[in-house]
Amino acid sequence: MVREYDVVIVGGGGAGLMTALECSKDSSLKIAVVSKVYPTRSHTGAAQGGVNASLGVADSRDNPQIHAYDTIRGSDFLADQSAVFYMTERAPELIYELDRLGVPFSRTEDGRIAQRPFGGATYPRTVFSADKTGHVILHTLFEQCLGRENVEFFNEFFLLDLIRDEEGVKGVSLLSIKDGEVITLGAKAVVLATGGFARIYWFRSTNAIGNTGDGQAVALRNGVPLKDMEFIQFHPTGLAKTGILLSEASRGEGGYLINRLGERFMKRYDPKRMELSTRDLVSRAIETEIREGRGFGKEPYSYVLLDLRHLGEKKIEERLPQVRKLAIDFEGKDPVKEPIPIRPTAHYCMGGIHVKDYKTLETPLKGLFAVGECACISVHGANRLGGNSLIELFVFGKTLGEYLRKYVKDLKLRPITYGERRKSEEFIEKIFKREGKEKLSQVRAEMGRINWEKVGIFREEGGLKEAYEKLTELLQRWEKIPLVDKGKVFNTNLIELLELRNMLELSRVVALSALNRKESRGGHRREDYPKRDDENFLKHSLVYYENGELKLKYLEVDTTKVGVK
Ligand SMILES: Cc1cc2nc3c(=O)[nH]c(=O)nc-3n(C[C@H](O)[C@H](O)[C@H](O)COP(=O)(O)OP(=O)(O)OC[C@H]3O[C@@H](n4cnc5c(N)ncnc54)[C@H](O)[C@@H]3O)c2cc1C
Repeated sequence: MVREYDVVIVGGGGAGLMTALECSKDSSLKIAVVSKVYPTRSHTGAAQGGVNASLGVADSRDNPQIHAYDTIRGSDFLADQSAVFYMTERAPELIYELDRLGVPFSRTEDGRIAQRPFGGATYPRTVFSADKTGHVILHTLFEQCLGRENVEFFNEFFLLDLIRDEEGVKGVSLLSIKDGEVITLGAKAVVLATGGFARIYWFRSTNAIGNTGDGQAVALRNGVPLKDMEFIQFHPTGLAKTGILLSEASRGEGGYLINRLGERFMKRYDPKRMELSTRDLVSRAIETEIREGRGFGKEPYSYVLLDLRHLGEKKIEERLPQVRKLAIDFEGKDPVKEPIPIRPTAHYCMGGIHVKDYKTLETPLKGLFAVGECACISVHGANRLGGNSLIELFVFGKTLGEYLRKYVKDLKLRPITYGERRKSEEFIEKIFKREGKEKLSQVRAEMGRINWEKVGIFREEGGLKEAYEKLTELLQRWEKIPLVDKGKVFNTNLIELLELRNMLELSRVVALSALNRKESRGGHRREDYPKRDDENFLKHSLVYYENGELKLKYLEVDTTKVGVK
């Protein structure tokens, strides 16, 4: 049986829910939201710091143009400037809309929405709700969607594939995690809002375990290009053993970074700003200390120390309670008494599914749209500013919802044939029958290690070539990983296997894009090409499949607003 909807949205995080809520304003439309985890467990809920909009509360000189300029400068001039201006102009409206929907933003003394300073911003413009901003927004959006009669949730359903004909996309096939059944949803428009893929750095990432880039990989396999995939943001302070994020506030409040010789080594890299230098610079400084033998521990778990002891228990408890709890729970260190082992960790993916136009968010495949971290619009270019990801979800989720209400109006659902439905079922049946000697955990660990070592914070030609070859081999080995669990009910072994394939395919795309970008820009640091090269590389990378091979081409950057400086 095929269930039919006007719009199917895959992803129940901030981007998917905002899109659904906006679409649902036309009560004649039927909308489905699909999520592999219960929606309130989406990674949006982990965002702590806040969301950027130039409300002008903290400083009345702030405005959308300055927000746009900060964003473009932060992007190392790779962002598309019209899209950035559009985002920053609509940002305040979206904050007020979230406020009216019931998001409990922190307030100033006189009751206005409060704003805090964040890296790369000329004025304080980050709106927040204590240190649980993403959590409260996600819950508010979910609760609002639950109240809409025309929004139906498919919780714990896993996207397997798109269903398409010569006209474009007409549905999706999903695996019901609960009972192993493959089902089909027909749709006039399909939205991918499946989040980021920083889990390709398996053992050191701030991301939720499920951030495996499933939507990007499905789009790629269906011929849609992925854009600027070489740009990954590394956050300097991840816990050494797990990569779990320790908020930037730990340095903001005055924490020191210390090497094995007891030095505050940032004095060598940025004597003025010291620990409060930019994320990419601090990350590279820590890695350099480790590479030059001034770190602690053994690879791949080497680390330096974050020392908060001088702040005293009272301040740590007051300002950094979550940091303390995470350090105790996951590293066994109480920052009041001991320094915390930390190391940079993969945090955010600037690249993603290529959308042709920021006003429609349509991909080159007709009927397929993308929004949120899985999309590349591109508003972050080579490097994202903290607080700009959440605002991207809401501005473009809203824009997409508004557009889809008109888009689906004159369209008809196209029938889905038995053969089209069977394709995904057969794929799953084949996996159940698979034999082989490879181990899932081993292939996944090798992928994480290769990405970390060769496609990580520092990159160079030889390492990238080697990584591409090894990742290609791992993808072949993936075919020989048998299922250990042959059950139908909550088969997490099967889900992990499907996720691993997606991560391996995306890892190859990242390595290929990085190999061919012979310059350093934003989050992409080539040791053999240490300078930004606007003459040859002021352009977006697009990677896509052609006859089973990955191909690369380039696309112009929109620099029409402020040019390149
Ligand atoms: C620890 C952390 C802190 C952060 N802090 C901030 C911050 O303070 N400010 C800021 O602006 N940004 C922050 N970010 C970034 C920001 O939170 C994310 O970029 C953003 O929330 C992504 O939202 P999304 O809706 O695109 O995806 P997500 O919230 O990741 O949701 C993805 C959805 O897709 C679904 N999905 C995925 N694959 C499938 C599949 N195969 N089948 C079905 N469903 C699927 C998932 O179930 C989920 O519902 C932070 C990120 C992290 C990791």
